[in-house]
Amino acid sequence: MTNEQLEELRKIVLPVMRILKLINLEEEEKLKQIPLGLIRKNATRMHAVCRFNPGPKGYKKRIEDVKEVAIHPEALNEKWLHYARFLMFHEYLHAIGNIRHDSVFRELENLWPDEKAKSAGKEFGKYLRNRASKWFWTCPKCNKQHPRTRKSNGRYLCRKCKVTLIDSPVGQTHHAQ
Ligand SMILES: [Zn+2]
Ligand SMILES: [Zn+2]
Repeated sequence: MTNEQLEELRKIVLPVMRILKLINLEEEEKLKQIPLGLIRKNATRMHAVCRFNPGPKGYKKRIEDVKEVAIHPEALNEKWLHYARFLMFHEYLHAIGNIRHDSVFRELENLWPDEKAKSAGKEFGKYLRNRASKWFWTCPKCNKQHPRTRKSNGRYLCRKCKVTLIDSPVGQTHHAQ
């Protein structure tokens, strides 16, 4: 079963690819057949993936060899939908045979018309890491907080103030004084 939201994204992305002359109608039909899915929700580094069926070595991959295009479920939140469309575009660029992230790939990727979406990857990664973090390393002087998955255990100093950072569990950000 394909997620309806993913289907909605596809309905936007494929016509744009056709307008950009990256695909023709026939290829668009083939791309429509690719199963859409979600990657695991606690992934922090991977934002999306284009999975191919294994083929003979050195064999040129075709649209028919694509097993699945999967997107991070967090990207389907309204706040990130613009980025989800770009992710899908990126994965479809792989699906049409651009396997590596080489200069040609980056040029094609750059054709996506939403400038904000093209630069959202860093922010989205940060958002995912914040979600995954269990501790704040907090500077007691300037109050700057660094979300982390581990405790700092007195090993780190605030870059600016040169004082030791203090651990506090996420969700408990206020210290009694
Ligand atoms: Zn890629
Ligand atoms: Zn500080």
